[in-house]
Amino acid sequence: MTLGSSPRPVRRVDLHLHTTASDGWLSPTEVVRKALALGLAAIAITDHDTTQGVAEALEAARGTELEVVSGVELSTDTSRTEVHILGYYVSREDAVLREKLQLLGDSRLRRAQRMMEKLSRMGLPVEWARVQQLASGASVGRPHVARAMVEKGYVSSVAGAFDQYIGKNGPAYVERYKLSPTEAVQLILASQGLPVIAHPLQVNHLIPELARHGLVGLEAYYPGYAPEETRFLLDLAGKHGLVATGGSDFHGDAGQPANEMGSVNVPLDALESLRARRGGARAKVSG
Ligand code: AMP
Ligand code: ZN
Ligand code: FE
Ligand code: FE
Repeated sequence: MTLGSSPRPVRRVDLHLHTTASDGWLSPTEVVRKALALGLAAIAITDHDTTQGVAEALEAARGTELEVVSGVELSTDTSRTEVHILGYYVSREDAVLREKLQLLGDSRLRRAQRMMEKLSRMGLPVEWARVQQLASGASVGRPHVARAMVEKGYVSSVAGAFDQYIGKNGPAYVERYKLSPTEAVQLILASQGLPVIAHPLQVNHLIPELARHGLVGLEAYYPGYAPEETRFLLDLAGKHGLVATGGSDFHGDAGQPANEMGSVNVPLDALESLRARRGGARAKVSG
């Protein structure tokens, strides 16, 4: 190859990644190494209801060309469905955010224990110590309970555990404390973060109202979204003055090839547009 003749490769980013700080399989350091190997320009660490993995990822990326964006993915509830709100650049020191994340984490712990009690009564006991080990002391989720069930041989896969027992309508499902989508948007804004609605295709009707409350972006690029669906979301973003972002929702699961890191084409522009909103995002009142 002659120097100068090849076009510069388009730098890509992946703004939706999970680590062992929640229900991902790779540690933050391993996630950073993988992103470096893939040649990504930037990644965001967006674990469920925790920012615990961010510090390690920042440290692992120090001195490299990879930019690590601190983030979080808050699970919220409406009366009808669960909605996930990503928060980019949140201040991890913010007292209110820390307190809320603590509440959410405590509720996750109690809920996992109650699900295990239900499973036990159904003749499917799993050990609490094992679930905690699988969660490696971080944000405990249903996938950790599901993995313990697979180990016990009660189900053949994590997906099977969700389908038969711990999915939303399953016999061992237990609710937990969740914010509303609006509360999540406000919490992220109050901690200097940029709220972005995750995988919004099925819940796109909520976007106008959330935009009135200060939502900054929406995920238009997401595994499984067809080109026309991405176009629909890009239009919606344009209509409401939102930044179009995206990511793979990588969990490090071998069984989820669609969610492979870097599998979704997210332009570096997405991150640049997001960055441009820093300092300008404000909580708004609907009306
Ligand atoms: P939780 O936050 O504890 O309620 O667990 C929800 C998480 O479990 C989601 O964010 C996904 O990562 C994962 N999950 C949800 N549904 C399934 C499923 N059917 N199979 C495998 N993992 C799932
Ligand atoms: Zn997850
Ligand atoms: Fe999500
Ligand atoms: Fe996610």
